[in-house]
Amino acid sequence: MPINIEGLSFTYSNGGPFEKKALNDINLNIEDGEFIGIIGHTGSGKSTLIQHFNGILKPTGGRISVNGIDTRQRDLKVLRRQVGIVFQYPEHQLFEDTVKKDISFGLLKLGLSEEETAQRVLAALQSVGLDQSILEKSPFELSGGQKRRVAIAGVVAMMPKILVLDEPTAGLDPSGRDEIFGYIKKLHKDFNMTIILVSHSMEDIARLAERVIVMNQGTIFMDKPSAQVYNQPQELEKIGLSAPQITYLMKRLKAIIPHIDENIFTVEAA
Ligand code: ADP
Repeated sequence: MPINIEGLSFTYSNGGPFEKKALNDINLNIEDGEFIGIIGHTGSGKSTLIQHFNGILKPTGGRISVNGIDTRQRDLKVLRRQVGIVFQYPEHQLFEDTVKKDISFGLLKLGLSEEETAQRVLAALQSVGLDQSILEKSPFELSGGQKRRVAIAGVVAMMPKILVLDEPTAGLDPSGRDEIFGYIKKLHKDFNMTIILVSHSMEDIARLAERVIVMNQGTIFMDKPSAQVYNQPQELEKIGLSAPQITYLMKRLKAIIPHIDENIFTVEAA
């Protein structure tokens, strides 16, 4: 099992006066090549969960293994290559004086030759819709959307098997958002990359993910194929989503799942 999580719990400042339980008994299996959306309110544990995928955070209870590597072990170099995480506002982490150096940074640390590094940088740039004319520019000369794409390219260049993205389109305009999602979809399709997309946007999740995980107060509240989430709008009410939010989600899902039962729209009248 590529990602296998059993009884995972995590408490910040464990044992201290300010301890805060952020994850509580999470059980989850993720297969190669899945496209998963994780949604949930702010504070529901989404970020805490994804930071366990490459061992940045270690369980305070239970276990997680990724491609057979238990993240409690010390040497996580191999794991870090297999799991790429694009954090929120990743452009804040650009620091080199050229785009090329920024995207190459991780590759050079892997000890790849200059030639292979150059090839991977170009491929990564292409996968986010940029061309090589941008390579010698300073990241700081770029537009917000371009910076975001360069930052994503830096993670994609490592060719991770699993790509985790935390709100990758936050703060972008609708066309910038559509572009980024288009590139993510393509990575998923072309390389069979496992994609784990965290968002609080129903719209994003509904139109992209094949499986939806809804988190609530540090637990997995629902974990279903998109089509089944669609069939249970009343469940989403229980975690405080408003009727318009649910209706909107249902409509988006309807657009991607044509054969769905119309009766579920009764929630709209509620
Ligand atoms: P989400 O990503 O869904 O917004 P988080 O995983 O960031 O949720 O947060 C889960 C819970 O853990 C929240 O109650 C949050 O306040 C708490 N939390 C997150 N980060 C820290 C931290 N560094 N120290 C203490 N508590 C934290």
